[in-house]
Amino acid sequence: MTPQELRALVRTVPDFPQPGIQFRDITTLIGHQAGFAASVRHLADHAREAGAQAIAGMEARGFIFGAAVAVELGLGFVPVRKPGKLPIETIGVDYALEYGTDRLEIDPAAIGQGQKVVIVDDLIATGGTALAATQLLRLAGAQVDHALFVIDLPDLGGADRLRESGLTVHALMDFEGD
Ligand code: AMP
Repeated sequence: MTPQELRALVRTVPDFPQPGIQFRDITTLIGHQAGFAASVRHLADHAREAGAQAIAGMEARGFIFGAAVAVELGLGFVPVRKPGKLPIETIGVDYALEYGTDRLEIDPAAIGQGQKVVIVDDLIATGGTALAATQLLRLAGAQVDHALFVIDLPDLGGADRLRESGLTVHALMDFEGD
């Protein structure tokens, strides 16, 4: 399936979780057997080209695509988790949201020094989450040069912010006007 056909499988829910937000829901994409498989293959092709030695995905929807890409390429998967989920000593970064802050954590032992880690998530909006994940993985010793997304919301500027931080960014589709 082409990225254009995959785009048609994403459900748009207006005013969720708050008025004015167009929520791009991947439930309908991953529920479609061929659509999910093609999404993972497209992402895996880019990760392979990027020379990925491991895949990192952000909780929770980044786990769905990231873990599948890792299996497709025969690589390990690094879960970038919400706070307090990992049962060991973690390293973490706090990052700003529109209102308040959030935090991401990883197991530092999950990363080999200099290991090429490619980030995978379902969607990039402002880029805050992906930038925090990049910072955290680099702190643990990873070489992070590539970030892959199913969906880009280009009007929110996240992909540009990531590029300014030296990352190569690719998304399978975009939705303009958000
Ligand atoms: P950001 O840190 O602003 O790039 O936001 C990225 C995260 O927020 C992604 O992992 C998405 O799961 C979620 N997200 C933000 N905006 C939307 C949206 N319009 N539709 C669906 N998910 C969104």
